[in-house]
Amino acid sequence: MKRIAILGSTGSIGRQALDILSGTESRRAGLVVHSLLCYGNTRLLEEQAGDHQPSVVAAISPAPGAPRLPGMITGDEAIGAAIEGADLVLNAIVGSAGLEASLECTRRGIRLALANKESLVVGGELLRPAIERGLVVPVDSEHSTIFRCLAGEACPPARIVLTASGGAALGIPRDELPSCGPERILRHPSWNMGPRITVDSSSMVNKAFEVIEARWLFSMPGLDAIEVLIHPGSFVHSMVELADGCYKCLMGSPDMRVPIAYALSWPEMADPGCSSLFRASDDPASWPGLSFSPMDHERYPAFGIVLEAGRTGGTAPCAANAADEVAVKAFLDGRIRFGDIARVLGETLSSHSPAPVDRETLRETDAWARARASSLVGGTE
Ligand code: NDP
Ligand code: MG
Repeated sequence: MKRIAILGSTGSIGRQALDILSGTESRRAGLVVHSLLCYGNTRLLEEQAGDHQPSVVAAISPAPGAPRLPGMITGDEAIGAAIEGADLVLNAIVGSAGLEASLECTRRGIRLALANKESLVVGGELLRPAIERGLVVPVDSEHSTIFRCLAGEACPPARIVLTASGGAALGIPRDELPSCGPERILRHPSWNMGPRITVDSSSMVNKAFEVIEARWLFSMPGLDAIEVLIHPGSFVHSMVELADGCYKCLMGSPDMRVPIAYALSWPEMADPGCSSLFRASDDPASWPGLSFSPMDHERYPAFGIVLEAGRTGGTAPCAANAADEVAVKAFLDGRIRFGDIARVLGETLSSHSPAPVDRETLRETDAWARARASSLVGGTE
C-alpha cells in the first residue's frame, strides 16, 4: 500500500490526480488517498473527502461561510498534518507557498511528486540534497519526460531541450499582445490548467521557470545547457541530447494525467490506470506534422527577463516569482494588461539586490518583491 497526500487537491493537478486515484487499477496497485489539502475551497474538499475517505482533511484558510468538515485541520498546522503518515506527497499547491511543504517533506524523508515548480524556482538550492537522494519525482510534463528519457542512461545529458506550446499568445498578432486581457490569454490551445500557469504559458514565464526547474532536477551545470524550442502541437513533450549526439524524446497527446500517474506510481510502476485511459487516443497517424522553432524574444519579452534572474541566481528567481504572482493576479483581476506583466517583472528585478539563499532571506525577498510589484500595479500586498 502507498498512502498519498494530495496538497492542492482542489486545483487542476489535484483534481486530475484524484481522477486517476478513483480508478480500480489504482486501488489494485495499492495507491490510497491518505490526505487532502486545499487553501479555502472546502466545498469541493468536502465532496472529494466523501469520494475518497482520506484519513486527514486540511485547509489553510477556509473561506467565510464555506463548509467546515469534521476533524478538518486548518492554519499553520494544516500542511504538517496532511503529510504526516504519508508515503508519497503530491505537491500541487500553486505559487511559492508550496516551498514550505516541499521542504517539510524532504526534512521528514517523504518522497515528493512535485508539480509545484515554484519550489525549485525559489528554493532549488535548498532542495538539492533531497534531489540527490532521489526523493523528488517531477510531475511537470517536460520534466517527467526528461526523467523518463534519462532512465537507464549512464551518462548525464549533453543538453536538455524543453518544448513550449507558445500558449494563447502564439496565435495573437504581436502588436495586439500588450493590450490583451484575460479572455484572450486564458484560451490555451493544448493544455487545460489553472489560471496562473495558463497566463505564465502565454508570457513564457512558465518556460523560463521550467529551465530553472530542469537545472536543479537534473543537476545541469548551468542554464545554457537547457534550450527551449517552440513546438505548437505539444506532441513532443521535451528531449534530451545524449553524449553521443542522439536525441531521446517522449511523444503523445498532451494530457497531464500521464506525468501525474507516472509520478504517483514511480518507482514500482504498477499500472495506476493509465493504459485503459490513454491507449486508444494515441494513433501517431493522426498527429499533426512536427515543427520546432527557436524562442521568439520579441513576442515573449518576459522569458528573457526571468531567465536572466535564473542566471543571476541567489534570491533573484524568488523575486521574479513573487513579482509574477502579483502581476498575474493583477492581470486576471483586470487591473493591468498582458504587456504590463513583463514590465512589472523587469522593474522589480532591476531594483532587487540578489543575496545568497537561506529560508529567512527567501521569505524577506518574497515579501519585498510582492510589495515592490504591488506598487507597480497600483495596489498593496
Ligand atoms: P490551481 O490554481 O488549479 O490549483 C491550486 C491549488 O493550490 C488549489 O487546490 C488551491 O486551493 C491550492 N492553494 C492555493 N494557494 C495555496 C496556499 N497558499 N497554500 C496551500 N494551498 C494553496 O493550480 P494548478 O493545479 O494549475 O497548478 C498547481 C501547481 O502545479 C503549480 O505550481 C503549477 O505551476 C504546477 N503545474 C500545473 C500544471 C497544470 O496542468 N495545471 C502543469 C505543470 C505544472 P483552493 O482551491 O482552496 O484555492
Ligand atoms: Mg510544463
